[in-house]
Amino acid sequence: MAALFRRTRRRSPGRKGMTLRQLYRNYKYEPDYVNSRYVRVQRVWPAVKGQPELRFKTLTIDPKTTPPRRVHWQRIYPADPTYEGKLSECPRVKVTCDCERWTYYWEYACFKKGAADIIMGNGKPPKELNMRGIPAPCKHLLEDIRYVLPNKL
Ligand SMILES: [Zn+2]
Repeated sequence: MAALFRRTRRRSPGRKGMTLRQLYRNYKYEPDYVNSRYVRVQRVWPAVKGQPELRFKTLTIDPKTTPPRRVHWQRIYPADPTYEGKLSECPRVKVTCDCERWTYYWEYACFKKGAADIIMGNGKPPKELNMRGIPAPCKHLLEDIRYVLPNKL
């Protein structure tokens, strides 16, 4: 968790940017890697009261992994720090998670599309993973987005 909240290494210019809905749709390109079946959102809270940024705590219980129970933390925030509306209606959002899949697979691709800052990874393009550069959420962020959109947060 501490790593997730440390200083941003490189801020994406976010000229293009993505909505939560667009990120959500990209899940279909890598369904094997983004299966949120075992993920539950445990806690959602605003980073600062009255501000749109939300933080999430998820619990993953997957009998096929060791350990089977994993806790991960995510953030979803507007690319424009002056945006004051809802995340579900935000024209350009940024997302991040502290899981390995996000760090090594998705962060750089989302960074290139303006949908993430470099926080967890080293900011270099992946050598083998996600060569197609599709900007998509990890399974934890996918479950978070499935919480935010219908609840119109
Ligand atoms: Zn994740």
